[in-house]
Amino acid sequence: MTAIIDGKATAAAIKAEIAEKVAARKAAGLKVPHLAAILVGHDGGSETYVASKVKACEECGFKSSLIRFESTDEAPLDPAVLMAEIARLNADDDVDGFIVQLPLPRHIDEQAVIEAIDPAKDVDGFHPVNVGRQSVGLPCFHSATPAGIVELLRRYNISPAGRRVVIVGRSNIVGKPLAAMLMQKGEGADATVTVCHSHTPELARVTRQADILVAAMGRPGFITADMVSEGAVVIDVGTTRVPDATRKSGFRLRGDVDYENVAPKCAAITPVPGGVGPMTIVSLMLNTLQAAQNRD
Ligand code: NAP
Repeated sequence: MTAIIDGKATAAAIKAEIAEKVAARKAAGLKVPHLAAILVGHDGGSETYVASKVKACEECGFKSSLIRFESTDEAPLDPAVLMAEIARLNADDDVDGFIVQLPLPRHIDEQAVIEAIDPAKDVDGFHPVNVGRQSVGLPCFHSATPAGIVELLRRYNISPAGRRVVIVGRSNIVGKPLAAMLMQKGEGADATVTVCHSHTPELARVTRQADILVAAMGRPGFITADMVSEGAVVIDVGTTRVPDATRKSGFRLRGDVDYENVAPKCAAITPVPGGVGPMTIVSLMLNTLQAAQNRD
């Protein structure tokens, strides 16, 4: 029997736990965590993600602020305006943490934007200070998606300790930080980690060695049944919009795993949607709560 790892239900349980902690903060006269988000332009995916983050703030009892900047090909946003807003949020005592929703329009230097955020308010965990602290196992804001995956495994009693984890994808927001977290010494980690990418030869031979296989490529249905060993745990991070005429939106989300054919072979698997996605948002909420606690 394959266990379906329910990220949606797990995320709901964690949000309820956070809401209780926020209520306790209020009762103790402490401030409610405040998360701000900057959204540039009108990318469809980004609009959805930011709306989900604002909703999650409401569910957790947080204060949230959404700061929007218009940017089009005809009238691109001046990057200096964005940098000034980041400086303002860095200095705003009421804001515990903030994010700049990625991707940004191509004319804006994303890395410069990430590095402009005060690491103490970098609840996305993308600033090199947080990345560096994470890699040496110091307290930091962990990148939200990897932290969500680690928490999901923990809550499903799937210990990575001593197991072979194969991650397909080496992005700065998923593959690399997840590898860093799972290879640390200690509870919820202690895994033997292999990271694959587009230059990995004989990919299927490597993925078949995985006790825990993580797909983070953005290639819908790429991981097929022949690439997965019997009894593996499969974590599907991929979320690609694929056309679907039966939906009002005209699309649906598809993961990197050929779910129908892979699931029967697995000990456990995350669905898309309802797997890793909701956990990413919850990790952001946990980081924001932590940011508020750090500033008490
Ligand atoms: P990314 O920056 O585009 O990186 C994709 C990675 O996959 C790269 O390392 C790339 O290799 C590798 N790759 C692509 N094709 C490959 C192939 N044929 N064989 C082996 N490796 C291959 O992507 P990302 O930002 O990490 O996102 C990955 C997916 O996760 C996307 O679908 C994204 O939407 C989704 N995502 C979901 C969440 C969530 O909360 N659920 C959060 C973040 C991302 P190279 O480095 O060699 O190019």
